[in-house]
Amino acid sequence: MRSSQVLIATLKETPADAEIISHQLMLRAGLVRRLASGLYTWLPMGLKVLRKAEAIVREEMDSAGAQELLMPSIQPAELWQKTGRWSKYGPELLRLKDRHGREFCYGPTHEEVITELVGQEVRSYKQLPITFYQIQTKFRDEIRPRFGLMRAREFLMKDAYSFHLDQKSLQKTYDAMFAAYSRVFERMGLDFRPVQADTGSIGGNTSHEFHVLASSGEDAIAFSNQSQYAANIELAEALAPSGERPHAVVNMTMVYTPKKHTIDEVCEYLDIIPAQCLKTLLVQGSEEGSVVALVIRGDHELNEVKAEKNTLIAAPLTFCTPEQVTVACGASIGSIGPVGLTIPILVDRAAANVANFVCGSNQNGQHFSGVNWARDLPEPETADLRNVIAGDPSPDGEGSLEIARGIEVGHIFQLGDNYSQKLNANVLAESGKSQILKMGCYGIGVSRVVAATIEQHHDERGITWPLALAPFQVVLVPINAHKSIRLREAADALYQQLLDAGFDILFDDRGQRPGVAFADMDLIGIPHRLILGERGLDNGMVEYKCRADGNESEFPIVDVVEELRKRLTI
Ligand code: ATP
Ligand code: MG
Repeated sequence: MRSSQVLIATLKETPADAEIISHQLMLRAGLVRRLASGLYTWLPMGLKVLRKAEAIVREEMDSAGAQELLMPSIQPAELWQKTGRWSKYGPELLRLKDRHGREFCYGPTHEEVITELVGQEVRSYKQLPITFYQIQTKFRDEIRPRFGLMRAREFLMKDAYSFHLDQKSLQKTYDAMFAAYSRVFERMGLDFRPVQADTGSIGGNTSHEFHVLASSGEDAIAFSNQSQYAANIELAEALAPSGERPHAVVNMTMVYTPKKHTIDEVCEYLDIIPAQCLKTLLVQGSEEGSVVALVIRGDHELNEVKAEKNTLIAAPLTFCTPEQVTVACGASIGSIGPVGLTIPILVDRAAANVANFVCGSNQNGQHFSGVNWARDLPEPETADLRNVIAGDPSPDGEGSLEIARGIEVGHIFQLGDNYSQKLNANVLAESGKSQILKMGCYGIGVSRVVAATIEQHHDERGITWPLALAPFQVVLVPINAHKSIRLREAADALYQQLLDAGFDILFDDRGQRPGVAFADMDLIGIPHRLILGERGLDNGMVEYKCRADGNESEFPIVDVVEELRKRLTI
């Protein structure tokens, strides 16, 4: 393609509102433009990348036996009411009304639509298992759209859904999808990791996320240094400490801690380490108006996803207001402690193993020290309430955990019969009886994966695309062609020759100064660059530069096809 046929919209300056590198580079390289919060236009150069990502996903879905279809992005409320998600989904669901006052939503996902469709169209067990997918625009009214395409409101997703008679068949397709996802991300040249995941609001039991490893990732993932164990930190179990709780050696005493509220302030003041201080957080209980106290070690973080799964606790997890705190414990937030509390108390396994600890006293400006479970307050009811940290034992018993940051680019779930029950999706089984279908669902954030790729593939000059996703494989830049008819003709001929040979090539015939053209191409990140100048032409040579490693070389123009092929197959 000639540069006159594809808008080159590079920017010199880094846009001020773009925080992470992929967002900055997508804007600077002229791949996307922001329309409004979380809404982006894909410019021609960016769309070429997006289409390549889509094509890889489509090929792998097809070869895994999934059938492509396309569902409407607008969905009727009734379907969502049947599954209960109309009320459960909350403000992320963009709701609209048509001219007749009928309610709809813009689909954030398509379980309802596909389950209804399969319930109507698939009649017999003989048609099973069956898997459908689509690549389509989703809308989620994210509370904080950010990082450009990474967490947009409108984004492109591949969503697939499989239907089965039994768990065995579901597991087989799930495994095939797992393998297909691994191939997709491998082909894209990504350093990724599948991890066990929480099933969130979609429900079901078994689930894996695929994460692209990047320091800017919003998720933390925990993995064992000795086994295959890897899980989203939301899910990773914090095992109970292996040793016995130490003995009580000191008496409980009240200590004055004026104006010391945070764990750090209290620890510094009392000269103790945070692991010796317990923090108490009050959250809403599942029973209307009830309050529950959660106790964790001062050096640990509450895991909200784990906490809200406890039946005593309201989901989503909601912290008590300062007024509720005062009513429940008689003091303000920085002074809460478990001694003498009359509300239910859940204690993290690690916190339950601490002796002679410091905690709030439920009196402002004072803490207790030397506190011991089973002496100063009852033996605690324990739960897994905290995030694992590096060095914790791996839940599978092999090795210890390390923590890395990840970007979730794919998510697969076994949904069981959650949706098919509610939407009455059944088929006639071999026995002649009607049977409810089992279901799996499988998503890839196609637009997010483009951004995630840039997080992993860039340098100080711009994007360094893996070949499979680059907008073009090769760019041809003629130098000072406006001054020489001979050079223009030679460049045209070379371009035509490379097109005919099947290369995906950009001919940068804009006539920019060489420095400007090279900077643009480095920013856009085309993997292979050919430079044709007057001197080279005299010698029958073309210059070559590899974007990723910066290596430069020269080869005879007559060998160009062969030389490029060599480089493209590595
Ligand atoms: P997240 O935890 O990042 O909010 P999710 O778990 O809600 O994502 P899923 O429902 O699993 O997302 O959707 C499937 C895939 O769609 C995700 O794995 C992710 O790659 C992509 N995705 C989800 N939300 C967004 C978004 N706001 N912008 C871009 N891609 C998204
Ligand atoms: Mg997810």
